[in-house]
Amino acid sequence: MLAEDKKTYRCEHSVALVKEATLRAVVGDWVALELSESHDKAIIKEILPRETQLVRKDPTEQALSQVLAANFDRVLIAQPLNDINIRRLERELVLAHETGVAVSVILTKADLAATEEEQAVVFEQVQSLVTNEEVLVISTEDAQSIEAVRSLVPAGEIAVMIGKSGVGKSSLINLLVGFEVQKTADVRSVDGKGRHTTVSREMIQIPEGGYIIDMPGVRGLGLWDADFGIETAFFDIEELARDCRFRDCKHESEPGCAVRAAVERADVAESRLKSYRALKKETASVQDRREEAQRLRTRTGHPRTRRFLDE
Ligand code: GDP
Ligand code: ZN
Repeated sequence: MLAEDKKTYRCEHSVALVKEATLRAVVGDWVALELSESHDKAIIKEILPRETQLVRKDPTEQALSQVLAANFDRVLIAQPLNDINIRRLERELVLAHETGVAVSVILTKADLAATEEEQAVVFEQVQSLVTNEEVLVISTEDAQSIEAVRSLVPAGEIAVMIGKSGVGKSSLINLLVGFEVQKTADVRSVDGKGRHTTVSREMIQIPEGGYIIDMPGVRGLGLWDADFGIETAFFDIEELARDCRFRDCKHESEPGCAVRAAVERADVAESRLKSYRALKKETASVQDRREEAQRLRTRTGHPRTRRFLDE
């Protein structure tokens, strides 16, 4: 933890915190720390309420969420321009928009695109999937493109970067910082989980800028509550759906479906409708499982409240 005195402390959660709730400090959290002379670790007494949080389904638990980062101002989604994965991008956009903050898409490795035309095609395609998000095209070969990212993370702000491993996140961060950040990882570590974690998610300060939170090792991006995120990421389908005859239209074979009509006209790609439906189904089934878990707990009178469930 980076404390107000600018020192970094190794921390552990207080026993009370561990007993009371499953709430754990994540990168970006503000916490109340207790320092002691005798103990080599500072104690996290309290985790302050989060203003924003990036949440996914816990990959190992059916009915629990997992917060990956807190209190940030922007989500940066990195995808390689030369090997873009639209389905994954749609999912990343849903998770990012669910947080409520500004979202930008960074298309990396532009130099690996075969031609400028290919670059333009991918850029246009991505542009058509987003509304207000900024889409940046970058390459480690092009210093100016990196500067454009810097201006997205001004001093006083925090950005979280998500993206599959290998898309170029570390390369970008190293260029923003001006040296290999890995070497300074210990100094800036704000990971409340301490040293035993294998993946370090840390806040990295950009000179003359804000902080960037790298999210290495985030494999699965299962949806948790995502209704708002889906609405925002699939703005085109949501807008069309207002003209469907039935309010609860599933856009399958109902008569008077405006979304299907748009697919027939080729205004919306069939694949996009398919992933919209799949993501809707995913978040609905998570909601079902959570409700089921809640019912079970009430019935058995489980004494321990799992706060995550109530968020
Ligand atoms: P991360 O896993 O997202 O942090 O990805 P890395 O930053 O480690 O990049 C993965 C690989 O892609 C490395 O071999 C980088 O050198 C390479 N790479 C990253 N950005 C670029 C780029 O803009 N152009 C090219 N040609 N290679 C890049
Ligand atoms: Zn419909």
